[in-house]
Amino acid sequence: MDPKAPITQDVLTIPRKLPDGPQNIIGLTRPALRDALIAAGTKEKQAKMRAGQIWQWLYHWGVRDFDQMTNLSKDYRAMLAETFVISLPEVVTRQISDDGTRKYLVRIAGGHEVEVVYIPETDRGTLCISSQVGCTLTCSFCHTGTQKLVRNLTPGEIIGQVMLARDDLDEWPEQGARNTAAPRLLSNIVLMGMGEPLYNFENVRDAMKIALDPEGIALSRRRITLSTSGVVPEIARTAEEIGCQLAVSFHATTDQVRDKLVPINKRWPIADLLDALRVYPKASNSERITFEYVMLDGVNDSDEDARRLVKLIEGIPAKINLIPFNEWPGAPYKRSSNNRIRAFADIVYNAGYSSPVRKPRGEDIMAACGQLKSATERQRKSRAQIAQETGL
Ligand code: SAH
Ligand code: SF4
Repeated sequence: MDPKAPITQDVLTIPRKLPDGPQNIIGLTRPALRDALIAAGTKEKQAKMRAGQIWQWLYHWGVRDFDQMTNLSKDYRAMLAETFVISLPEVVTRQISDDGTRKYLVRIAGGHEVEVVYIPETDRGTLCISSQVGCTLTCSFCHTGTQKLVRNLTPGEIIGQVMLARDDLDEWPEQGARNTAAPRLLSNIVLMGMGEPLYNFENVRDAMKIALDPEGIALSRRRITLSTSGVVPEIARTAEEIGCQLAVSFHATTDQVRDKLVPINKRWPIADLLDALRVYPKASNSERITFEYVMLDGVNDSDEDARRLVKLIEGIPAKINLIPFNEWPGAPYKRSSNNRIRAFADIVYNAGYSSPVRKPRGEDIMAACGQLKSATERQRKSRAQIAQETGL
């Protein structure tokens, strides 16, 4: 294969608006919502204010019925109910691990399924969300990579994962209640579930704009982390258009090994990736890049690897997150021993980098990093067929 050849992207994206029928209001950005209200007959002068009111009901209060939007007139609410639906993905199963981790299997339009994981910790609660059903990339250590990509998630399906987790955690504010200072159960989002977020850039961006909006879910840029396998051309755009924290699935210190573990490296090798990462913190006004490094026994875990790693990233504000490999049925690798991981971490730490070892969470329910895979398999369908079956 010519390494510079484009990676084929056989990705189907659901159109955001179908010609007729009610449109899902969840997932529209503020400007898109305003435009949709104007298209539905709202006067231009009023549309911004109406969009703001609806926005608060949906994303601050978590209301799911237009009739509860009591600062809008009855007629206006009736118009909304005729024009839009408020539709979230459906939770099919919820599993709770011994350590409190929750894994949701979620069904989206067309009957496809993705997984979402909630990880409670003492100082935060992190929701790991998916951006695609399956993944077009085929990282050899990743369970999701063995599932053929079915399709990109829509913005509504991405932000919908956050909303349904808040439902499950019972975390919408009580109407009329004053804001309490209680810490949030769902305080952080990581785009580390199924899929490569930067191959679904616009939809991920729009969903994160909703999560960031101060009059709704209102998470700060510091509490959202997007993990990419290294889609170099989209990294600058991420800084500009989302501005969240960035994590990168680095995993190897030579192109030879990285080509095998993270095949997108053949297209954008380590040097190109590092060039893009060097400018990210300044461009996004974020602090440090997280370098994720999966510890695979005898593959990428030598002292020499550790020394090469710190040399490569010299000058980049970074944290190195060592992830003990999480096994899955049929996986071709083994987890490095604890002693090996410790030795590797020491070298990284002595070079001045924070090097936390990620504690596997929810292993008993296959909810740990890289273990996610839903039963959905790709069937060849035309774009029109998929658009039709979504009914969005
Ligand atoms: N596609 C994105 C985000 C999803 S994967 C990406 O690749 O970055 C989230 C993290 O889990 C990535 O760093 C990924 O490389 C890692 N990972 C995948 N499979 C794993 C496994 N079996 N054990 C440990 N980490 C894994
Ligand atoms: Fe896709 Fe990320 Fe898994 Fe690679 S590690 S196959 S990019 S989900």
